[in-house]
Amino acid sequence: MAEDPRDWEIETQAVRGGLMRSEHGEITEALFLTQSFAYESAASADARFAGDAPGFIYQRFSNPTTQMFEERLALIEGAEACRATASGMAAIHLSLTGLLRAGDHLVAAKAMFGSCRWVVSEWLPRFGVETTYVDATDLEAWKSAVRPNTKAFLMESPANPLLEVSSIGGVAEVAHAAGAKLVVDNVFATPIFQKPLTLGADVVVYSATKHIDGQGRVLGGAILGAADLLTEAYKDIFRHTGPALSPFNAWVLLKGLETMELRVRRQTATAGRIADVIAAHAKVTTVRYPGRKDHPQAAIIANQMTGGGSVIAFDLGSREAAWRFLDSLQIVDISNNLGDAKSMATHPSTTTHRSMPEAERLEIGLTEGWVRISIGLEGVGDLTRDINRALDAA
Ligand SMILES: *Cc1c(COP(=O)(O)O)cnc(C)c1O
Repeated sequence: MAEDPRDWEIETQAVRGGLMRSEHGEITEALFLTQSFAYESAASADARFAGDAPGFIYQRFSNPTTQMFEERLALIEGAEACRATASGMAAIHLSLTGLLRAGDHLVAAKAMFGSCRWVVSEWLPRFGVETTYVDATDLEAWKSAVRPNTKAFLMESPANPLLEVSSIGGVAEVAHAAGAKLVVDNVFATPIFQKPLTLGADVVVYSATKHIDGQGRVLGGAILGAADLLTEAYKDIFRHTGPALSPFNAWVLLKGLETMELRVRRQTATAGRIADVIAAHAKVTTVRYPGRKDHPQAAIIANQMTGGGSVIAFDLGSREAAWRFLDSLQIVDISNNLGDAKSMATHPSTTTHRSMPEAERLEIGLTEGWVRISIGLEGVGDLTRDINRALDAA
């Protein structure tokens, strides 16, 4: 019997899943940097366009390298299907516009990445989609936000930047009772530590720019879910509006997937130790890390995550102290990315979340003293020294 890659361990899926070898038998995945494909005959072009024969047509629809990336990520996630996009934001935008049309209503978590807030608050209303924001940790709030025309729910867990966690299973139940689909942005947890589809979500989205690349090179994104839903909600919009991932970036991300599990586990082990170092420092008023017992949603985390992830948030009380901390770092970079091999720290209220009006920032508890730090692959001793020195200076 032939091996079924769906039965493989994640480590095997990460290096062999989706591999499609050409007649040359190359060991590493081939980079098919081609826009179009030649047909043997006019009839075979006709059959491919009609969907009656397999084969590639045009890079905007699909590409062998991109397909290898999609299949590998789908295996790791345990999803039936995956569509790769040019960025995480393309994935989130498409995940919503594929499910919603004029007159529909969306319920969304208040706390989320700044650009996602912009899509929901500024962009969707132009096409007649209204949104109600809720405190994602409050299941009653999700319930009471439902209207007869509610078609989708959107959440991030853990959420950016304060790592608030919500029950994916609980929110999925409310969504399904309302006849709505639940979209979960799973960037912070990664497919290593959380499987939203298993917990009840309908669609999972990633910014592959983060841990999937993990080495600071390319943008990318992905939408995953049941094959029928991906076809019905996304196939045509994907084909005709052009959010396709470049095959070059897909190739980089395929290689990223090979080492993602190793990187994410090491980064998480280090982040657990650094979170304790930060918590022990006198200048820190609050530390938020999903791997710590003092996380406000520790009980939910125990139910749905198997690791705390690589990002820590902490409050230094004022913008001045937060900036002094950042400006005193010698190893950790000041940068807004996350999930990278290099550790980086950012001041969310003046960078990633500056497009969010101040009142809304305060509503999610994002005051100016908060710093978000993404732990990379450096030695834990060097990071401890660098961070303690910067905390002393704060
Ligand atoms: C970075 C990020 C995005 C956006 O992804 P891009 O690849 O930068 O477009 C969306 N959601 C979360 C949680 C992110 O961290």
